[in-house]
Amino acid sequence: MNIGFVGLGQMGHAIAGNVLAAGHALTVWNRSPDKADDLVAKGAARAASPAEAGNGDIVATMLADDAALEAVCFGENGLLSGESPALHVSLSTISLQLAERLEQAYRANGGRFVSAPVFGRPDAAAAAKLFVVAAGQADDLVRCQPLFDAIGQRTFVVGDKPSQANVVKLSGNFLIMASIETMAEALTLAAKNGVERAAMMEVLTETLFGGLVHRNYGKMLVEESYRPAGFAAPLGLKDMRLVGAAAEASRVPMPVLGVVRDHLLSAIAREGEDIDWSGIGKIIAADAGLG
Ligand code: NAP
Repeated sequence: MNIGFVGLGQMGHAIAGNVLAAGHALTVWNRSPDKADDLVAKGAARAASPAEAGNGDIVATMLADDAALEAVCFGENGLLSGESPALHVSLSTISLQLAERLEQAYRANGGRFVSAPVFGRPDAAAAAKLFVVAAGQADDLVRCQPLFDAIGQRTFVVGDKPSQANVVKLSGNFLIMASIETMAEALTLAAKNGVERAAMMEVLTETLFGGLVHRNYGKMLVEESYRPAGFAAPLGLKDMRLVGAAAEASRVPMPVLGVVRDHLLSAIAREGEDIDWSGIGKIIAADAGLG
């Protein structure tokens, strides 16, 4: 397939590399052009604008947030500036509202839009082990499947309305953040009573809490390895803001959301923008007089 790819950050660069490795013809665009250099050296074509990257069968985007995706779609030489845009697959974690706006804009322009946000950090992206959560029209999803196969280990179809994939992704990220919060609180309580964090985490993960989130983030909390960030705290804060917007629009009270949001704010204010979102563990420990 002829695939365009827009957004070569931590996630996008790794994902685009796997699209190329799977044998697809790849055309890339990134705001900072140098991030495309090694992909171009490996055979990708360099587009001069997002619109040019959108000339193939499918164009995928992996961008920081709503503002970035809006700039790439609605801006000058954006994906929607052409007459018949390709099928657009949005992999970014974005708001339900923007997914709905893009679905309408593509329909009005003769194109198609699918949301397919992913679970997995940059190491999973590099290993083509992402979990893809997809929603859109069935025939569009079938067209996207070779792309999903190239980047992930499994695709989950959750609905025919693109924003349904975004609500699943945002809800999942809320649950990860809440799990980090509760793990950090429990580890801090044990540590203040003289129990080693590693010993506590071993008990938890080898008994009742053996899933990926507890194992991976538990290890980060035990080792206090918050830098370099695999998922930076400001991006986590963006996601919690989007969860809040969806919850408010849907009239769903989510009291825990306020707690994790404030801990993310503290982590960024006290530690800087470059800390991982699991760095809330440091704030929770410090609030208890540790560290
Ligand atoms: P990142 O490394 O910060 O990359 C962000 C990308 O967005 C870069 O390509 C950046 O371009 C581009 N960008 C930002 N603002 C832009 C603008 N105004 N116009 C055009 N391009 C713009 O972030 P990431 O970690 O790859 O995350 C990307 C998306 O994946 C986010 O929605 C995130 O929530 C989601 N996600 C991340 C993870 C993770 O663990 N990291 C996991 C799952 C999902 P430049 O290179 O020019 O800055």
